[in-house]
Amino acid sequence: MNHNIAIDGPAGAGKSTIAKKIAQKRKVIYVDTGAMYRAMALFLLRQGIGPQETEKISAKCEEADITICYENGEQVVLLNGENVNGLIRTEEVSHMASGSSANPQVRKKLVRLQQALAAREDVVMDGRDIGTCVLPDAAVKVYLTAGVGVRARRRYEELLARGEVCDLSEIEKDIEERDRQDMTREISPLRQAEDAVLIDSSNMSIDDVVDAVIGLCTWK
Ligand code: C5P
Repeated sequence: MNHNIAIDGPAGAGKSTIAKKIAQKRKVIYVDTGAMYRAMALFLLRQGIGPQETEKISAKCEEADITICYENGEQVVLLNGENVNGLIRTEEVSHMASGSSANPQVRKKLVRLQQALAAREDVVMDGRDIGTCVLPDAAVKVYLTAGVGVRARRRYEELLARGEVCDLSEIEKDIEERDRQDMTREISPLRQAEDAVLIDSSNMSIDDVVDAVIGLCTWK
């Protein structure tokens, strides 16, 4: 029986925070698909390839072996055997991932991996195209969003807490640009699946959102 939960939405909507909590509560695995696109972006950056170099991306992406495993319940992304968890959250990688994820070969490769994971066991998976493309038959689909100002502030506070120097208006501009790229790309653009439930978390606490999603799960 398929008990997969798909959570899509724009950058900074809180998808991973919510998905992790749901995974703990429902005792299923959490699959962060953005981390896979980020690992691919890191691989391409290391090859000296830029986000708009479509042909080079197509030619090189097959050389990246991306797999995931779990350590103490945390997803670890392996890029050609190397744990890259600590290297994929930079602004450079975010920017590259937003460009390279528009590439059809990159998507085909990673979607295959994501579908294989969900076929093995129940998952809560977050990304941009989970409800529309990766898991069209997911038992629960959520489109999680929040106003761009709210999302930028959350990201800003997250970076500050990590001791990073950052600028709120730069972050907001960057989020808007990533939204634009993710929503307007030709293949699997970010959009709400017809059967997804829209949750706007602008004025909701994390626990409120978690409860709202769990409330949609009609099985034990
Ligand atoms: O979710 P996160 O910000 O880590 O994702 C990084 C980038 O990967 C996104 O900006 C998006 O371009 C891409 N992505 C995607 N499809 C997914 C997950 C992420 O295109 N399912």
